[in-house]
Amino acid sequence: MLKAENIKKSFGANEVLKGIDLSVEKGETVAVIGPSGSGKSTFLRCLNKLETIDGGSIEFDGEIIAENGKYKKDKELRPIISKMGMVFQQFNLFPHKSVIENITEAPVIVNKIAQKDAEAEAERLLADVGLSEKINEYPCNLSGGQQQRVAIARALAMNPKLMLFDEPTSALDPELTGEVLNVMKKLADKKMTMLVVTHEIAFAKEVASHVIFMDGGYIIEQGSPNDVLENPKNERTVKFLERVL
Ligand code: ADP
Ligand code: MG
Repeated sequence: MLKAENIKKSFGANEVLKGIDLSVEKGETVAVIGPSGSGKSTFLRCLNKLETIDGGSIEFDGEIIAENGKYKKDKELRPIISKMGMVFQQFNLFPHKSVIENITEAPVIVNKIAQKDAEAEAERLLADVGLSEKINEYPCNLSGGQQQRVAIARALAMNPKLMLFDEPTSALDPELTGEVLNVMKKLADKKMTMLVVTHEIAFAKEVASHVIFMDGGYIIEQGSPNDVLENPKNERTVKFLERVL
């Protein structure tokens, strides 16, 4: 579903990604862990061109997104990237739009879905994330966990082939993380392909098919949750896990 090869990215003199190779198979949930500042968000953002790479290649769903550090033209890229859903740490809902308006906007405007059909789909997605009763609420009247579940429903409304999650529970009070992780677990059970940056080691152990540990712009260690989280081989992985567990 996704193949990134030798991804490099600098911000000025700060070389943040020093050659990242990562593949995600269809139906797989890949968890990315690593210390703050190790380039996890930057890597995710390069995949859908929220940031631009300096080197490397990205292939997604049989299409080339970037080759040798150069992205396809935006016009050709847009429909490809629209099949990657992204959920951010800070929910990023449109504050002046209701829950249903947040969910239907992109399907109607970008995918040209009929308003009625988009609304029916939004209702179905809201039921899936357990928020049917909030359909006409505004984001400011929702808890962080509810806002994040709406953000997930909004991403799913575009019928994505891959979901990117960037620390989706890091901004939440601890008692609200479970409801978001449960929604993500349900998605994984339904074989949605997911790339998840997270500090939730228990979630990664339970849900991920593959775990990546990033540090200093490199992938230091990767493998099954059992390999990386229970029997880490690299000293930096060991140290990181000691700190977060
Ligand atoms: P992580 O998500 O693993 O915490 P980030 O990808 O956010 O790491 O950041 C990696 C490094 O890149 C940090 O040193 C950060 O300061 C830098 N960085 C991230 N985004 C930008 C940006 N837009 N401009 C300049 N530096 C950035
Ligand atoms: Mg980050």
